[in-house]
Amino acid sequence: MKKCQLIDTTLRDGEQSPGVYFNTEDKKNIARLLNQAGVVWIEAGIPASGPHEIKKIQSLLSLGLNARFFSWNRLKIKDIDASIEAGLKYIHLSFPASPILLKYKLKKDLPWLLSELEKTVDYAKSKGLEISIGAEDASRTDRKTMAEILKKINLLGCIRFRYADTVGILDPIKTARIIKNLKNETDIPIEFHAHNDFGLAAANSLCAFRSGAAFLSVSVNGLGERAGNAALEEVAMGLRFIEKADSGIDPRLMIKLSKTVEKASGRKVSVSKPVVGKKIFEHESGIHVDGFLKEKSAYEPYSPKILGRKNRFVLGKSSGKNAIRYFLKKKKITGISDEKIASIRSYIVSLGEQDKKLYGKKMKKMDFLSNIE
Ligand SMILES: [Zn+2]
Repeated sequence: MKKCQLIDTTLRDGEQSPGVYFNTEDKKNIARLLNQAGVVWIEAGIPASGPHEIKKIQSLLSLGLNARFFSWNRLKIKDIDASIEAGLKYIHLSFPASPILLKYKLKKDLPWLLSELEKTVDYAKSKGLEISIGAEDASRTDRKTMAEILKKINLLGCIRFRYADTVGILDPIKTARIIKNLKNETDIPIEFHAHNDFGLAAANSLCAFRSGAAFLSVSVNGLGERAGNAALEEVAMGLRFIEKADSGIDPRLMIKLSKTVEKASGRKVSVSKPVVGKKIFEHESGIHVDGFLKEKSAYEPYSPKILGRKNRFVLGKSSGKNAIRYFLKKKKITGISDEKIASIRSYIVSLGEQDKKLYGKKMKKMDFLSNIE
């Protein structure tokens, strides 16, 4: 089976979401769960942001987890020193690649970048650090410039090259072409870092893997800048069921991770969010429930049991006769005539139309059975 390693950035890119703040306990809880779920690489934070962040990373390292923690750094010696102070052995060095960031934001040019890359990587290596290196805004960088950059990086001895679609503008076809080109230009294992501005982060990530990326950046619930990153849960399940690849992730921990990050971040997860949404295994439509009762896989791509979850049928405006029979049977009521079932159905449909919230508890309490008499 093909293998893909996930690099979780919930504690770095995720925490960069406006208004999101993880205290030390939050960071420790999330890191423990990520480790338990089988995540090998955890981007823990940005030590250069100050002593408070350094302390948090130190407490993550003191947990003694199997997962490898690393930090995000600019091409600056003081950033690397802060990571060393935090006690890290692995660091990520991020450099601006696109003209928008390099020329207009930093007012620098390519020769400057190539010389800084060498200087900072040499410094980090002299301190015994293992370095992952990454092109920020790589997807808005022309191919020629990227080839020049890679020519330099190929000589530096880094463990990974991160290609960041920083503003999420790629689509799966472009992603596949880019990763294949990169594979021709470097032997360094490639990490693809997606953003979800057009809802394509997970799709692009799967395509990147299919095209040769060995690592994929993810975050729990897709928490991250703007529309977020590729969601860990979506990518892990996509790798398993679409790519038939092993990410080493235990799907039974997806819900716990999602809820923990939802609570710590204050960012609500939609009820229809893939993999972790509360209502994604709920069925009401008569056609779907009927199909499901005959063949469990009729209207679901995989069994919710894989996630430790269950299917749920609800009665409402689009319930069919078979669903009603199923509910009655569960209450050990059988032998009801077709006419009676039809009248119960009309009653439920009319209630469903009157009150959009006729699901869950309220529906359970509803005495539709009195309609049988
Ligand atoms: Zn990012």
